[in-house]
Amino acid sequence: MIDDPITRMVTRNLCTGCGACAGLFPEAITMIEDPLHGRRPVVNDDPASKEVAELASAFCAGAGSDWRELPRTDIIDANWGPILAAWEGWSSDPQIRHRGSSGGAVTALALHSLFAGLASGVAHVAARQDDPRRNEAVISRGRAELLRGAGSRYAQASPAEALGQVAAGTESVVFVGKPCDIATVRRAISADPSLDNKVPLTIAIFCAGAPNLIGTERLLSRLGVPSDRAISELRYRGNGWPGTMQARWRDANGEEYHSAEITYAEGWGEFLQSERRWRCRICSDHTGAFADISVGDPWHAPPSGDGEAGRSLIVARTERGRAFVEAAIRSGALIAEPRQRDVIARAQPNLAATHGAVWGRRLAMRMGGLPTPNDVGQSLFSQWWRLPARQKLASILGTWRRIVRERLWRPVRIAAEG
Ligand SMILES: Cc1cc2nc3c(=O)[nH]c(=O)nc-3n(C[C@H](O)[C@H](O)[C@H](O)COP(=O)(O)OP(=O)(O)OC[C@H]3O[C@@H](n4cnc5c(N)ncnc54)[C@H](O)[C@@H]3O)c2cc1C
Ligand code: SF4
Ligand code: SF4
Repeated sequence: MIDDPITRMVTRNLCTGCGACAGLFPEAITMIEDPLHGRRPVVNDDPASKEVAELASAFCAGAGSDWRELPRTDIIDANWGPILAAWEGWSSDPQIRHRGSSGGAVTALALHSLFAGLASGVAHVAARQDDPRRNEAVISRGRAELLRGAGSRYAQASPAEALGQVAAGTESVVFVGKPCDIATVRRAISADPSLDNKVPLTIAIFCAGAPNLIGTERLLSRLGVPSDRAISELRYRGNGWPGTMQARWRDANGEEYHSAEITYAEGWGEFLQSERRWRCRICSDHTGAFADISVGDPWHAPPSGDGEAGRSLIVARTERGRAFVEAAIRSGALIAEPRQRDVIARAQPNLAATHGAVWGRRLAMRMGGLPTPNDVGQSLFSQWWRLPARQKLASILGTWRRIVRERLWRPVRIAAEG
């Protein structure tokens, strides 16, 4: 086994699975989906690949990000990353709104970027057609392709694998991903400035953490999907807000069946969230501070029942993000009303508590000699300090319990994809 910085990211449990290293250097690095540890890169076991992995590590944000480069003016920015403006809204296209996870704002903005000529493609993820339990990075060039990726996939996904195609080509591509995916894209642009023109806009989805394949299998079992089946569709959200979880599968004779349907709240709360990776629990950016635009759920005004027409919370983080959202509203692609900049704290109390716990969790890890991400310039201590005493203590004691239960000191080893 040859040691290299990308393998070290994985074994030390710092890799987020964004896929950038494998996408940019496919001759040396491959993403493998380990049922427990998630989608993680595996570097070929030869000296040339080790050298390539050294190059790839310059593009990786898994070990930490630098918040000092983010302009912040007040405590809202300090806690959540730059927020220039916020809106609540939805796609004016009823099908996109219905299929979208929240109000379809991400898909609406992505489609508008193609219509407006900002980009000729959108890099994002969609369910793999041969196995919808897994996701693939795709570059979509029209409404039908974008709709294929609409709706959240509460599973492992590596959208930054698409960076290789973007870097090798000449076209402009809008990038959609989770906050960790966007942080890597931002770092990749710093490492290779030629990417700057090729990625004219980034859109983040808010993210509480990505569950593994074990979580997906638990969900499928609850949905009543037999184990010896071929899954043809797996939907985690969408078809209304917050939407339901449902699968379709075929038996050996090719007959297709619909599974039981359960609420998003049950699926996430009972089967998926417990399978989030440890890296997600020490993640300090759940809302896409490094993006131009971030989109999440406006939970402060929850739906009155499952299946209500969806709404998205849209946050501009840069001037170009603000200008783009305003243009999308003017064009009619997006229907949205302005909200106060602090709406994010009211909409995402769970993520606020998670951000607060991170400093305590990382402290407990460091005391146990475990490596932690180094996010420079973030106000993690003050967010932790503002937590009630019980939560402060829980962030430390709970982490020690988890270190023992999950034996987090052991290096992460990736098993071959099954
Ligand atoms: C794992 C996960 C955790 C989340 N946690 C929260 C949360 O705590 N709070 C909250 O408000 N919102 C959370 N979301 C985001 C939320 O579910 C919606 O995606 C967001 O509100 C955008 O909705 P939309 O209708 O505007 O987007 P849509 O129009 O439905 O578009 C969604 C876009 O996100 C992309 N996408 C879907 N799944 C993934 C994935 N796994 N990785 C990368 N890209 C993906 C799709 O390719 C698509 O382009 C989470 C999403 C995921 C996938
Ligand atoms: S670039 Fe992404 S996938 Fe590769 S090691 Fe870093 S975090 Fe992991
Ligand atoms: S919680 Fe953080 S590290 Fe985990 S998938 Fe979401 S953005 Fe990435």
